[in-house]
Amino acid sequence: MSLKLEQSQSLLESILKSVGSGIIVADETGKFLLYNPAAEKLFGIGATVSSPAEWSKLYGFFAEDGITPLPEDELPLVRAIRGQSVSGMRVYIKNAGLKDGLWLSMNARPLVTADGAIAGGVISFEDITRQKELEQEAARSNADLEQFASVAAHDLQEPLRTVVSFLNLLEQRTKNQLDEKSARYVHNAVSGAKRMQVLINDLLAYSRIRTKGQPFALVNMQLVIQDVLDDLGGNIAESAAKIDIGRLPNVRGDRSQLRHLCLNLINNAIKFRKQDEPLRIEVGVTESRKTPHLVTFYFRDNGIGIEPEFYERIFVIFRRLHGMDEYPGTGIGLAICQRIVERHGGRIWVESALGVGSTFYLTLPLEQT
Ligand code: ADP
Repeated sequence: MSLKLEQSQSLLESILKSVGSGIIVADETGKFLLYNPAAEKLFGIGATVSSPAEWSKLYGFFAEDGITPLPEDELPLVRAIRGQSVSGMRVYIKNAGLKDGLWLSMNARPLVTADGAIAGGVISFEDITRQKELEQEAARSNADLEQFASVAAHDLQEPLRTVVSFLNLLEQRTKNQLDEKSARYVHNAVSGAKRMQVLINDLLAYSRIRTKGQPFALVNMQLVIQDVLDDLGGNIAESAAKIDIGRLPNVRGDRSQLRHLCLNLINNAIKFRKQDEPLRIEVGVTESRKTPHLVTFYFRDNGIGIEPEFYERIFVIFRRLHGMDEYPGTGIGLAICQRIVERHGGRIWVESALGVGSTFYLTLPLEQT
């Protein structure tokens, strides 16, 4: 062996020994050609003389849920040997050699010779157990918080109903008997309690988006929008709005939630219109070649507009840019829209110019036909 070749081989060996990532190379039959110390540490078992059909059981590979055994076909190294590439696949591993199970993130690539033939596969992997634990903790505390909000909102409804009905009775009974100031106090108490009822109902609706949603099915968005426009008939006539609806595709989702989403957006366009200009609303889709499984809808208006510094804040629950006397509302509409879109795996954002108008964009999964 030439000195140069020897040197580069020992350099490669020391690199493979020192890296924290596990690296394994196998030939096309599954025979291990390289198995670095980190791989041995992370797998809890060293290189074995075994066939790929035995690997899942022998090494204890499971899917990310930690319970479903990974079939041979889905093992990253097996896929690499068959010519596929795998990036960032999360796998759980547990076997007699490991005190505790580990989550690994795995990459795999076929081993291709100079003439283009597949001679085996390479995998590299890292321990992501800590990251996975943090994600699980965050999901648990989110779920706890959500449940707390839902239970609190539900349990507050009953006593509040009592307060509202007794305040109403008090208002009726004391009509014309109280001095002006006392009558105003009672009136303010009634409207405060009623507003609280609206807020609590909204909070409950918000907390139920994820927990009480319907399974996804084909949704004809053209019909959904038509339905919403029929519902808003009175408001639309009153605002003399001109509404253009483009050709809308079918999506995959929860029809009732998507209807709620469109209703909120069109309602806002009507509510936040300019008083001195006829309202125009346009609903359509834009195409994206980057994400062919998603479609971007837009809801454009020529209303009062929003300043860029508020583009994100308006989606936060109970955040409003105006006083109740200027525009009625609770500030939950867009937070509900965001939750609905996120439940569908999409995102929602706004582009706007103050005094010119706003366009709300949202992505939804296309129904593949
Ligand atoms: P609400 O309508 O009850 O105030 P939303 O969550 O629907 O609550 O909206 C939050 C805020 O975003 C509104 O108070 C308003 O300032 C702004 N906004 C929403 N839609 C529009 C729109 N189409 N044009 C201008 N401003 C809007």
